[in-house]
Amino acid sequence: MKLLGLIGGMSWESSAQYYRLINEGVRAARGATASARLLLWSFDFAEIEALQRAGDWPALTGLMIDAAERLTGAGAEHLLICTNTMHLMAGEVEAATGIPLLHIADPAGAAIRAAGLGKVALLGTAFTMEQGFYRDRLAQRHGLEVLVPDAADRATVHRVIYDELVAGQVNEASRQAYREVIARLVERGAQGIVLGCTEIMLLIGADDSPVPLFDTTALHAAAAVDLLLAD
Ligand code: GLU
Repeated sequence: MKLLGLIGGMSWESSAQYYRLINEGVRAARGATASARLLLWSFDFAEIEALQRAGDWPALTGLMIDAAERLTGAGAEHLLICTNTMHLMAGEVEAATGIPLLHIADPAGAAIRAAGLGKVALLGTAFTMEQGFYRDRLAQRHGLEVLVPDAADRATVHRVIYDELVAGQVNEASRQAYREVIARLVERGAQGIVLGCTEIMLLIGADDSPVPLFDTTALHAAAAVDLLLAD
């Protein structure tokens, strides 16, 4: 089995899901006692979140590269960044270490195409919804049309992530607000919804959407299992 390096703690609520999902996948493939060979670098998310709020992306890129180098130094053969937002500097991280990075948007894009869909909506942090790095990858590499919520709905989606989900809070009122955001996106033609933040799966499930959901946490973890078990 290969050795994967996970850059996580952004937040630990979702890294815990990655750890569970990857280990469950290895167990399903290899038997009851089998488990994943993993290294985890887990950040203090308070530090990350403060730098994001300050817009200090160069400092964040430095921290991400430092984490990646520690993991490759310890023997990681592939890297995963366990958050959508911090794929903003995925290219720099991959270039600095020279080992392959499994980009979170790619398993999502592949799953959407496999489902035969061409137009999806993206939910995530404001950084993910508003900057090009994620939408452009889905558009250019996977040929998808990607909608985002309007400004007021983007603010709601972002606020719930940072005020509640990363703190482990799952509130019914926020679930209802997300359902309404999803309904408006479906009215605009979204055939599927990308849960493009690794904590949204804590709040929203298939019953909350009239169209298929593409949970980036689960899809990224499943792709990690395939990588771990590849010859
Ligand atoms: N985990 C979230 C994501 O997937 C947000 C936390 C972060 O900013 O990294 O984007």
